[in-house]
Amino acid sequence: MRIAVAKEVEVGEHRVAAVPDVVARLVKQGLEVWVEAGAGEGSFWSDRAYEDAGAKIVSDTAAIWGEADVLLKVGVPYEHEIEQMRSGSTLISFLNPFSQHNLVQRLASRRVTAFAMELIPRTTRAQSMDALSSQASVAGYKAVLIAAAALPKYFPMLTTAAGTIPPAKVFVIGAGVAGLQAIATARRLGAVVEAFDIRPAVKEEVQSLGAKFVEVNLDEDTVASGGYAKEVSDASKERSQQVIAEHVKGADAVITTAQVPGRKAPLLVTEEMVAQMKPGSVIVDLAGESGGNCACTEAGKDVQRHGVTIIGPINLPSSMPVHASQMYAKNVLTLVQYLVKDGALQLNFEDDIVKSTCVTHAGEICNQRVRELSLSLVGNG
Ligand code: NAD
Repeated sequence: MRIAVAKEVEVGEHRVAAVPDVVARLVKQGLEVWVEAGAGEGSFWSDRAYEDAGAKIVSDTAAIWGEADVLLKVGVPYEHEIEQMRSGSTLISFLNPFSQHNLVQRLASRRVTAFAMELIPRTTRAQSMDALSSQASVAGYKAVLIAAAALPKYFPMLTTAAGTIPPAKVFVIGAGVAGLQAIATARRLGAVVEAFDIRPAVKEEVQSLGAKFVEVNLDEDTVASGGYAKEVSDASKERSQQVIAEHVKGADAVITTAQVPGRKAPLLVTEEMVAQMKPGSVIVDLAGESGGNCACTEAGKDVQRHGVTIIGPINLPSSMPVHASQMYAKNVLTLVQYLVKDGALQLNFEDDIVKSTCVTHAGEICNQRVRELSLSLVGNG
C-alpha cells in the first residue's frame, strides 16, 4: 500500500501532514511512502530527512495525487487537486465538510474514501487522533504570546529598583482546549488570569491551572452531546454579557476562543465593552475565522478601536509549524495505524471512529450529518 504526503499549496500554510519520524514508523510497518518534493520545507524538514526516514521524494504533483492509495494532507484540498485522485483511493485531511459541500460531492462522485480530521470523535479512545485538540492547543499558546507582544506592559509582576510593576490581568473567554492552553501560558508568563465558559463543568480545570473561574448562573442546560457548548437563549446571552462586560473592563488582555460547532461564533464582546477598556489593552480573538467573539474583530487583521488593539489571527497553528505538524502527523499516524490491517485499509462502518470521521466512501456521502446537510442544500436549490 502506498501512502503519499502532499505539499500544502495554500498561501500561509506551513504545516505538513507527516514528519520524518512518522514516515519512518509507516515504512517500518511495511508501507511504501512517497513525499512530494519540498513538502516539509515550511516546517523545516528537508527532502533529505524524509529520504533518510525511508520515503521516496516525488517531484511530480500529479503522481502524488494520482498514484497514492492513501493521500495525507493538512489543509482542505482544492477541487483541482482531488480531480487527480484515483477512484477507490483514500484521502485523510481537514476537509471542513459542513461548509465545503461541493468538495464533498466531488469526493463522493470520484469514489474517493475521505476522512475528515475535524470529525475525529472527542472520546478517550480517539484522543491520540484528535487533531482539533492538538492544533487548538497550539493556537491557545500562540494567542497569549501575540497578546503579550502587543501589550504595552509587562505580563509578570516585577519588583525592581525602578519601582514595582503589577502583573497584567488576562481574561480568557471560552475554556475549551485553546482556552485552557491560553490560561496555562498566561499563568506561566506571570499574569493574573480569569476565565469564563458557558459550560460550568470546566470550572475545576480552570482553577487547577491557577485561574479564577467567572461564574454566571444560567437557567438552562448549556452542554450539547459530545460535551460541546450549545447555542443558548437570548436571555442567557444577555446575562453572560453583563458578567463578561465587568471582567473585560478590568482586563489588560482578553483572549476569546468561544465556539459552538457548526454555527457562527457567539458574539460576546460588544463594541461598548471595547470602549470601556483601558487604552493600550489588547484583544486576541481566536474565533475571527468563524465570525468573531468580538464585534470589532476583522479576521486576519489588527484593528484599533477606542485605543484598544483587536487582533483576529488566521490559522495560528501554521505559525508554529514544527510542533503543529509533529502533533498533526502523530494524530494522522494513529488513525492510519487504526485503519490499516495486514497492509490494507479495513473499514468497519460499525466502529464509531470510522463512522464519525469517514465522509465519503464508494460513491456515497456516508457521514450522516454531512449527508443531511448536503441533501437539505440540494432541496433548497
Ligand atoms: P470549541 O472550540 O467548540 O469551543 C471553545 C469553548 O468555547 C468551549 O469550551 C465552549 O464551551 C465555549 N463556548 C461556547 N459558547 C460560549 C459562550 N457563549 N460563552 C462562553 N464560552 C462559550 O471547544 P473545544 O475546545 O473543541 O472542546 C469542546 C469539548 O470537547 C469540550 O467539552 C472538551 O472538554 C471536549 N474535548 C474532549 C476530549 C476528549 O475527551 N478526548 C478532547 C478534546 C476536547
